[in-house]
Amino acid sequence: MAQGTLYIVSAPSGAGKSSLIQALLKTQPLYDTQVSISHTTRDMRPGEKHGEHYYFVSKTEFASMIQEDAFLEHAEVFGNHYGTSREAIEQVLSTGVDVFLDIDWQGAQQIRHKMPHARSIFVLPPSKEELDRRLRGRGQDSEIVIAKRMAQAVAEMSHYAEYDYLIVNDDFDLALSDLKTIIRAERLRMSRQKARHDALISKLLAD
Ligand code: GDP
Ligand code: ADP
Ligand code: 5GP
Repeated sequence: MAQGTLYIVSAPSGAGKSSLIQALLKTQPLYDTQVSISHTTRDMRPGEKHGEHYYFVSKTEFASMIQEDAFLEHAEVFGNHYGTSREAIEQVLSTGVDVFLDIDWQGAQQIRHKMPHARSIFVLPPSKEELDRRLRGRGQDSEIVIAKRMAQAVAEMSHYAEYDYLIVNDDFDLALSDLKTIIRAERLRMSRQKARHDALISKLLAD
């Protein structure tokens, strides 16, 4: 069976990458597409669940996971630690499922280095004003946290050109359709189609 594709999705906080990934997953069966659940040391937001949005761990637990080499990548973002667990990703990809990583540019660089077949997608907001509105509209972060995230937005966005694909999330449905198109095209690549249609190709080419 062909390996699943690993997708990296990055964006400045509030651009809509979690909303896009969640909307995408609703249209795809679990045996096709999954999102990786990161470990983080940040505080849980109202409505978030351990094991669903993140695995919320202490700084000490996070540090011992680093010691045990449990992370495929990890980085400090907005003063908190975030990491992608190695075990979860490699096992799922080996069963042919596509996996999405919602990670920052530092994590993206580490993954590209370790897994050169990964595809990466950058999401931009339509304007700085709209980014600010969405961060506030989400209504889950304090003023201090929002200010920190806005201040980091330009630094995150300055890495856009390191990615394979670029989506501007202005109209949500259009952005979602762009995301689906990227995945569709990747699934039509020769390497994946060959594995999927092995039996058909053998029959068609037989004398
Ligand atoms: P979280 O991951 O739990 O923070 O959830 P999201 O950030 O993905 O979404 C927060 C809320 O915004 C949910 O109730 C979504 O249904 C809603 N939402 C997602 N996309 C859009 C959009 O484009 N426009 C509007 N108005 N609401 C949206
Ligand atoms: P991120 O994961 O990039 O931090 P979210 O997915 O949490 O961003 O989105 C931030 C806020 O913006 C959410 O309240 C979401 O509902 C809203 N949002 C996302 N995309 C759009 C869009 N195209 N138009 C309007 N609001 C959007
Ligand atoms: P949030 O706190 O809004 O959920 O995420 C903040 C930032 O951390 C986002 O840019 C998000 O992409 C990034 N992030 C979330 N999980 C990980 C992870 O496992 N690794 C890395 N490198 N970044 C992550």
